[in-house]
Parts: sequence; structure tokens; C-alpha cells
Amino acid sequence: MRGGLTADGSLVEPLGAFEPILSGVRACEAVVFDLDDTLYLERDYVRSGARAAARWVAAQTEADPDEAERELLAQISRSIRRDPFGRWLRRRSLDPRVWLPRMLDVYRSHRPGIELGIGVQRLLERLARKHKLGLLTDGRLEQQRRKVEALRLERWPFAIVYSDEWGRQGWKPDLRPYQTVLERLGVPAERSVYVGDNPAKDFLGARRAGMLSIRFRRRGGLHAHTQPGCSENAPDWETTTVYELERVLTGQKRPQTVSAASSSGREDREIGGLASAP
Ligand SMILES: [Mg+2]
Repeated sequence: MRGGLTADGSLVEPLGAFEPILSGVRACEAVVFDLDDTLYLERDYVRSGARAAARWVAAQTEADPDEAERELLAQISRSIRRDPFGRWLRRRSLDPRVWLPRMLDVYRSHRPGIELGIGVQRLLERLARKHKLGLLTDGRLEQQRRKVEALRLERWPFAIVYSDEWGRQGWKPDLRPYQTVLERLGVPAERSVYVGDNPAKDFLGARRAGMLSIRFRRRGGLHAHTQPGCSENAPDWETTTVYELERVLTGQKRPQTVSAASSSGREDREIGGLASAP
């Protein structure tokens, strides 16, 4: 344990277990972000797609579009992962074998009604001054491209890698997308940080690629209550607020706490077909 005063006289607290992450963040030249539930809330995408799908079905069946949308959103609020489209179709006496594939087509090809929060925009503004920015995202290529467009990420100089370019086998934690984004950024792995939300894949891939990893456990995220299955899947550090994330990444604050939030992991066992997984 070390402590003391810095050159400007401010107190340096003992680093202890956080020394590796602290020195890593200080040395970092590039920050690579995950997309879904990291830069924006994926539930907003699900709801926006559900609205489009409900209105499309209503138009085909001459039903009230507002009522159709309201009922489907209510199903999703009950459970985003337990076949909300199928339950909604059955309530309307519509055969899911006929309608579900067409609803999913509308859902996947809709123009997403999603946006970046003010805090994330500020974070990206600040980081872009001194860091290189990367984006590495799983999910169907066209769907992810539409999200990037809707979020207007072209406002920042992101190196963007869609892991679906290698097909499903290229999704995280496959090493290729991590290595590719680092190559495009021209930054060695040990001088980069990956920021993601999903302990099933995000941090394992980053660790294997030699990157530092941070979990942004944002409120309302689909994996916010998921615990890493083993230590290899755990991030080096985690936070629940974009404010703290910004302060740590910009060197204004040293990482001090790791959330002890626990969970049954119940939600993850219920994964259905609407999140970025399908
Ligand atoms: Mg994610």
C-alpha cells in the first residue's frame, strides 16, 4: 500500500488493488466502446422496433394502431425476454408461425428511435480531445449500422468494427474484432481500454486481446444484474454512472469502488429474440 502527496500537494490515497487499473487508464491512448447498453439503452431500441412492428401488423389487419402499439409495449414491459411478440399475436388471435417472422423483419429493418444521453455525449466530447475512439459491436450487421446512424456517431472519429462481418463466429469474445479495432486505431492493446456491459463476452475478449476492461453497469441495461460466470469474464473495474466513468477515463478520479451488486442472473436465462443476440 502506498500513499502520499502529489507535486501539487493533493493527497494520493493508497492504490492497493486498483493500481493496475489506475496505471492502465493513465497510460491509455484509446477507448473502445461496446454499443448496446453501453452508449445507449437497448430497451429503447426494443421499444422503438416494437412500435414499428405493432403498427405494421395493425395496418395489415385493419386494427387500431395506437391500441396495437400500447398492448405490445405492455407485453414488453412485463418481460422483454419471454416472447412478447408471440404472446401479443396470440392475444390478437393471429398465428405466430405466420406473423412472427414478418414482425421480426419489420423490427430488424426499422429506423431506430434511439439517441445518446447528454452524459454520454459529454463523455465522448471530452475523450475525443486526447484519446482515440473505437466502437466494437456484436449483432446483425444492418441492424447495428442503423443504430450507429440513428445515434449520429459520425460526430466523433470512431474506428468502427462490426463483428458480424466475420459472421456469427466472429462475435465477441472472438479475438478478431478486438484485434481489428486496435489495428485500425494504431494503438497497442496495453494502451487501450474496452468499455462494455455484458459479462458473458465483453471482458473475456478484451482480456484475451490484452486490453484493460471496464464494465458500465448502467441502470436499465439488459445485463445490469448479471454476474460474471468466472473471474476471466469479470471486468478490471466497473461503475454504474457515466459521470464516474468520465472522471476515471479522463484521469480526474481514481477507481475506488467495485460494486458488490448481486443478482440471480434470472433475466439472462430468459433471453428471447429481441435484444441484439438474434
Ligand atoms: Mg452491450
